[in-house]
Amino acid sequence: MKLPLYLESSDLSLLEPEFSELLRKTLKKCEEKGLRARVGCAMRGPGAQARMWCQNKSPDNVASMVGILQKSAPKISALIAAQPCGMSPQGSWHMPGDSWHQHGEAADLWVEVKDSARWIGGLAELVAEEVRKVGLYHSHFERHWNPRGRHWHAQLRKEETPLSLRGFADSWSRIEEMMVERFDFDEFQKVSTTTYNLAFSRDAFTFVTK
Ligand SMILES: [Zn+2]
Repeated sequence: MKLPLYLESSDLSLLEPEFSELLRKTLKKCEEKGLRARVGCAMRGPGAQARMWCQNKSPDNVASMVGILQKSAPKISALIAAQPCGMSPQGSWHMPGDSWHQHGEAADLWVEVKDSARWIGGLAELVAEEVRKVGLYHSHFERHWNPRGRHWHAQLRKEETPLSLRGFADSWSRIEEMMVERFDFDEFQKVSTTTYNLAFSRDAFTFVTK
């Protein structure tokens, strides 16, 4: 059964086995040191990634990417065209399918301290250290990854994104095939007519910037 397009899950069983095993090992090591490391978003559907990518982009920015991908990855192109843009500063640098979160090879980690969740700071850095010790890669140490300076993102491979790893998925059409294999795009067909579309966002953007 395919996964939902807008999935955001902390379920380790949805991840690639090699990665989830190393994550479990990390969590255990943290626990032994009295650090209550927790998994935030691990597997993220391309719909959720599209929403994140669009939310800090301008309509023109989104429209040009929609145009670039229309031929090679029409489903991903349609997915980003349907998201509201310019809605929030909290976005993502990575397009749907070009984040390891859609391939079961990335997870965001946080630390539980009394009644609060810590995503940054000294304790998050201690978790990053444990991530590195088991052989995974963490954004705290990979300073060239975007966005820079995150204290929570861990992944299986050193290459920042799937398209930056030669031989994994060398083109957008291959990325789209991989997304269709794993996620239920029929769900998008059902909801897309009721979601925002680019035309709406463009009007909204023009309105607020006038
Ligand atoms: Zn992440």
